[in-house]
Amino acid sequence: MNTFDSMSDKQDDQLAARLGKKKRLAWDASSTQKKDEDLDKPLPKGVVLDKDGKPCRLCTSVASWRALTKQASSASSSSNTSSSSSPTLSPPSLSDNNASSIPGANDDDCPPDVEALGRSTWTFLHSLTAAYPPRATSEQQLEMHSFLKLFSRLYPCWVCADDFRAWMNQSGGRNEPRLSGRSEFGTWMCEAHNAVNRKLGKKEFDCRFWEERWRTGWKDGRCD
Ligand SMILES: Cc1cc2nc3c(=O)[nH]c(=O)nc-3n(C[C@H](O)[C@H](O)[C@H](O)COP(=O)(O)OP(=O)(O)OC[C@H]3O[C@@H](n4cnc5c(N)ncnc54)[C@H](O)[C@@H]3O)c2cc1C
Repeated sequence: MNTFDSMSDKQDDQLAARLGKKKRLAWDASSTQKKDEDLDKPLPKGVVLDKDGKPCRLCTSVASWRALTKQASSASSSSNTSSSSSPTLSPPSLSDNNASSIPGANDDDCPPDVEALGRSTWTFLHSLTAAYPPRATSEQQLEMHSFLKLFSRLYPCWVCADDFRAWMNQSGGRNEPRLSGRSEFGTWMCEAHNAVNRKLGKKEFDCRFWEERWRTGWKDGRCD
């Protein structure tokens, strides 16, 4: 483990400790949020906790994360008035000496939130379908199947991964990956993305156009 890993673990621990001791989590599938039932002060809306009870940055939007760190620092400053020896947690900011000395440092070089991670991942996943052969061999299908299975276990937003896996494994096998060739796989990925869009209350994408969006570029020539 390098210094940065241990620093961020320590910060997570401090944040978790400041927000409450024993956390009991209840997954609210409809709102994609974790509720923390034992905290004195409720967590800001949209904050998702990890399985170990620490805030999960990769599962939370940047707005909710900022509300959380603000809540944690105000809790810390009020406890500091009574005891000046309490440890403090302040997220590294550009005004910190070490950060301001990093050339080109700005808000874009922060760790991703659930949305930035999602956008990058969808770009990767749809590009994977765009690069898939028109007709895949059994070996290629097997490899992709293994990848998707692992992906649905390892995706770093764990609540996203759990729901994605549940969608893939829905009874009757109707959402099983369809991998015989590019067209089928691209449409399947588009349906998978639409399942997440529906869950989040977003507009669905018309899957007839997945290839223009992710492989060939739009027919109106705007991507040429
Ligand atoms: C597997 C997975 C599970 C996720 N689960 C959650 C979750 O549970 N909770 C949560 O808050 N976030 C989740 N996300 C992130 C979420 O899907 C979005 O990425 C995030 O909210 C940012 O959304 P966006 O509106 O910028 O566009 P995105 O949904 O990221 O889409 C990026 C672009 O893809 C195109 N697009 C949209 N829909 C489709 C489609 N069906 N087919 C092809 N192209 C399309 C559009 O051009 C769009 O601009 C998940 C991401 C992934 C990869």
